[in-house]
Amino acid sequence: MNKHVVMSGMRPTGALHLGHWEGALKSWLLLQESAVCHFSIVDWHALTTEYQDPANIGGNIRQVLLDWLAVGIDPEKSVVYLQSAVKEISELFLLLSMMTPLGWLERVPTFKEQQAQLSDRDLNQYGFLGYPLLQTVDIVIMKADTVPVGEDQVFHLELAREIVRRFNGLYGDCFPEPQPFLTPIPKLPGVDGRKMSKSYGNAIYLGDSPLMVGEKIRPMVTDIRRKRRSDPGVPEECPVFALHKAYSRAEQIKEVAAGCRTADIGCLDCKKILIANVNEFLEPFRQRRSQYENMAVNDILATGNLRAAERARHTLAQVRDLMKI
Ligand code: SF4
Repeated sequence: MNKHVVMSGMRPTGALHLGHWEGALKSWLLLQESAVCHFSIVDWHALTTEYQDPANIGGNIRQVLLDWLAVGIDPEKSVVYLQSAVKEISELFLLLSMMTPLGWLERVPTFKEQQAQLSDRDLNQYGFLGYPLLQTVDIVIMKADTVPVGEDQVFHLELAREIVRRFNGLYGDCFPEPQPFLTPIPKLPGVDGRKMSKSYGNAIYLGDSPLMVGEKIRPMVTDIRRKRRSDPGVPEECPVFALHKAYSRAEQIKEVAAGCRTADIGCLDCKKILIANVNEFLEPFRQRRSQYENMAVNDILATGNLRAAERARHTLAQVRDLMKI
């Protein structure tokens, strides 16, 4: 039976945190066991929003790579590569841009949303408008039929399918229509109770030391009803409890919830249990990371780049042939 071909990527904008684990990496590990996976560090995508200050992108590429390897992305099983090292992507981006209607890009919801959210930057750029097309190229150049996405990204994939249909209709069958592999949208709160995000400065990173995890969780906001140790609380309204649900054992979750409601457990003791569990969860990542830190990880990327470029070259040759250029 033919294996599914998977493509997914991450922008190198900094170290990865538990939100990335819950929303993407966990699914990638599953997929890597049964499909041919292509995981790309999409540095050109980072440029769409960081073009004025690209100095950190190089360092972030290494960070992201180390995080991927640390969680168990296996470069023997999956093709791990850097987007900008596969120049064929830029040629296919140009070719597909000729047949992609402007209106399709303008109606991508995140285009206007992100322009509004990142109001400190001027995002009235051609590259920013075109980034969903670049995403499409990332996918189709690997002939991927499966793309892990959260519900909020399904629209982008629909655009990719429309472009594929248009290309196949105009020039002949070339690309499979990529289907979504739905990944959960992480509901993980950060240490301030808002969604865990690097830009909020509230994240627990996959590479955090045990000390750092303790320093972040100890001052976490809790249910506001628990002003005094003797005040009962509602665990469902506490971000500490939300993290317990992700990283503590079932019986501990039950005990903590009951203890919170009756004020039998104090918030500090509750957090101590969570700190131990988050650290236990992160420990295998730390160990794997320290092994890779001493290795020439650039060689891992270089090998992946060659494998990805070879596949991209085949696709591009077929595209040129179909387009008669
Ligand atoms: S006991 Fe735990 S769950 Fe309850 S409010 Fe305190 S930190 Fe939150």
